[in-house]
Amino acid sequence: MEDGAAAELFDGQSAIRHPVTLHWQDGGLAIARAEGAMEVIPAAVLTFNEHRGDRLVYGHRERAGWRLLVPADAAPALLARLPQGGKYGGWIDRFGLVRASVVLAVISAAAVAAVMTAPSWLGPMVPESWERQIGSALVGDLDKFACSTPESDAALAALVRQVDDGKTPVTVQLAKIDMVNAVALPGGRILIFDKLVQEAKSPDEVAGVLAHEVGHVRKRHVMQALLRQFGLSILLSGANSDIGGTLGGLATMGYSREAEREADAYSRMQLARSDISPAATAAFFGRLRKLDPTAGNKQLSYLASHPDTAEREQAFKAAVKRDEAYRPALTPAQFQALRQACAKDKDAEEWSLGWGS
Ligand SMILES: [Zn+2]
Repeated sequence: MEDGAAAELFDGQSAIRHPVTLHWQDGGLAIARAEGAMEVIPAAVLTFNEHRGDRLVYGHRERAGWRLLVPADAAPALLARLPQGGKYGGWIDRFGLVRASVVLAVISAAAVAAVMTAPSWLGPMVPESWERQIGSALVGDLDKFACSTPESDAALAALVRQVDDGKTPVTVQLAKIDMVNAVALPGGRILIFDKLVQEAKSPDEVAGVLAHEVGHVRKRHVMQALLRQFGLSILLSGANSDIGGTLGGLATMGYSREAEREADAYSRMQLARSDISPAATAAFFGRLRKLDPTAGNKQLSYLASHPDTAEREQAFKAAVKRDEAYRPALTPAQFQALRQACAKDKDAEEWSLGWGS
């Protein structure tokens, strides 16, 4: 009898063992839970994992921790359509167990190494259109937090032009968030938090920070960080992902030190291209170091996401050229428009810091 084989399911969400019944339906394995819920799993995503005691253990290619335990003496017609494992798993039978475990050890070491280093080499290879899709699925609607007036939009656009020479446009928004920070989000989106603009003593400081975030976008650090945080599954799940990313989580996504240095180098290069003095950015880092690190939401502060402020301050200071004719990144009127945007834009919602400390 093919229908109704009893099995047990761990769904990967919790440690609870669900009693289920199995049968084949529409080319997939229908798994019915005792309480009535049913799901059809396509045969192609099932994997044979191991022979454990008197049961066969199957996994799911896209769900970590998902395990289906089927009695080894279940109906042959049902077992025949599940992925085949043999006694120890197909090719292990042929090679013999001892040799296979050596091979397995080598393969798993290689796999671990590949996954550990994947973010840095794989990130830049992921098409930007994929990243945009993942980004919009993860981040959701941020526009309601954006402060915008015709004058501030023009000032922001003028700032972006001076610190970005990439081909695909980045989307930079001023966000009504009461934290000194700026973040690069998936899909080439950058948020400058209003508090940072309020704390900045000059437009050159905002330019330096913005250029740094543009650096993260252009060097594909955002995709690397996503891969590091969520694993390769983010590429498979993409827009249908239920990994539950939040702006809070994404904003605190850590970049490697190397990535931070690269973004800073990009920033200095852009400032030099536009004749903006890096001294202002150095001064900004200097003042940041003296801010109370316990004030406000620590997780989202610039200091939390960017350690080594002293080292960075030095690097920007060292980039100042003595006889260079520097000019301000924005006119006083443009900078003023930027500073007043959030107060003037009554539609902008204040971002709630309700995601915990
Ligand atoms: Zn950074």
